[in-house]
Amino acid sequence: MSINVLFSARPALWPIYEPLLTKGLSGMDVTIATDLPPERVDYVVYAPNGGLQDFTPYTRLKAVLSLWAGVEKIAGNETLTVPLARMVDHGLTQGMTEWVVGHVLRYHLGMDRHITMQDGVWAPDPPPLASQRTVCVLGLGALGQAAAGVLSSLGFNVIGWSRTAKTIPGIRSLHGPDGLRRALTQADIVVLLLPDTPATENTLNAETLALLPKGARIINPGRGGLIDDDALLQALDTGQIAHATLDVFRTEPLPPQHPYWAHPNVTVTPHIASETRPETAAQVICDNIRRNEAGQPLLHLVDRDLGY
Ligand code: NDP
Repeated sequence: MSINVLFSARPALWPIYEPLLTKGLSGMDVTIATDLPPERVDYVVYAPNGGLQDFTPYTRLKAVLSLWAGVEKIAGNETLTVPLARMVDHGLTQGMTEWVVGHVLRYHLGMDRHITMQDGVWAPDPPPLASQRTVCVLGLGALGQAAAGVLSSLGFNVIGWSRTAKTIPGIRSLHGPDGLRRALTQADIVVLLLPDTPATENTLNAETLALLPKGARIINPGRGGLIDDDALLQALDTGQIAHATLDVFRTEPLPPQHPYWAHPNVTVTPHIASETRPETAAQVICDNIRRNEAGQPLLHLVDRDLGY
């Protein structure tokens, strides 16, 4: 029987994905299009900016396959009653690891001082070794584990934190509320790679920011809702937090008048930490369609109750 795949994402992506999906599903009797009668659609390749919100008319739908790793905009959609798979893409993971490691090294090596202060003053102050620096990675999923692994291989003392207990070589893994407190009290640099769910909202707030050693640094490529913005601004003003690098925000684009833009101890990047890479991501989508058609379980399923 033929299957129909609806591509519902930013229109500019269609010319890029169309040949990749067609190639990835070659040999199958398949129609892939951006416009199909809802009652004929078997799979939706989905991103929130495709505009699809009401899945009620999609009566024959078998699964929704997200192009994004973060699924907070669809996980709670009550019109969706079929399985939802999120994106775990080698290219996305590699990009995130590079971004995180780059920003950790910026802090670790004190690069700003040398890049911005070409003031004629010869004042050697060599950085410590990575083994003398503790990096705490909040979230040990596809992205957090990859970044933590590379940081550990560079010699950093890496503590990871997740919802469930884990054993990962080279990483001290903690979990649960008590684990968060223990992780933060030791962290020189905190990296947030948690999903945006009701349970993770404001993970960094006035109370948890106060647990960090004075002068700690924050790197957030996760989601804006993970941080209480007012509490962070206050902690930056008192010096409790020396600097924050923020890639994601509650409102995006970050409004021009937002205090983060003007704060001397904040670096704003415009949600570019990493992105889904079509060449590798299309393969993930096609593999999942083939698996489902062969009666095998879908990979990367979202737990709708947990929201990730
Ligand atoms: P995963 O679902 O693979 O991992 C999520 C991790 O967070 C897991 O380790 C999970 O714990 C942990 N976690 C979830 N809820 C809690 C909680 N309540 N307490 C403690 N830990 C928790 O996600 P990914 O690694 O693929 O992606 C992480 C996030 O990165 C995405 O949700 C997205 O928001 C963001 N992202 C940002 C991008 C950017 O460009 N800025 C690009 C891509 C993603 P456990 O392992 O126990 O389940």
